[in-house]
Amino acid sequence: MPPQPKGFRVANKILVVEDNELNLKLFCDLLRAHGYEAEPVRDGREAVERTRAFDPDLIIMDIQMPHISGLELIEQLKSDDALKSIPVMAVTAYAAKGDEERIRDAGAEGYVSKPISLMKFVESVGALLKPEPGP
Ligand code: MN
Repeated sequence: MPPQPKGFRVANKILVVEDNELNLKLFCDLLRAHGYEAEPVRDGREAVERTRAFDPDLIIMDIQMPHISGLELIEQLKSDDALKSIPVMAVTAYAAKGDEERIRDAGAEGYVSKPISLMKFVESVGALLKPEPGP
């Protein structure tokens, strides 16, 4: 086996929960192009179980989904001791007044609104993955 190149590191793993197939592909392609390992989840009802199995470093969560809303999923994740430390970046199609506050109240660490600015999306992902500064 050849030696690993200098600076080798395991890619950050990102779980992407999004019911819209085009957005799901866009987000995953974009993340992979930036060196992340992206895992798509199309059905919100699978999100908590898939989070446990994939053990992501970040979760990208669509808010408007059938069956279960992203807000409800964020609340479930944040009330689970094993999962609550994983940062969540919420993505919402329309930001009505008070939406960002509701999303933050549910426990999301980050928030971007659609239509997505690709640059802002990637910047927000990077900011949420940044390790906490040491003491
Ligand atoms: Mn949706």
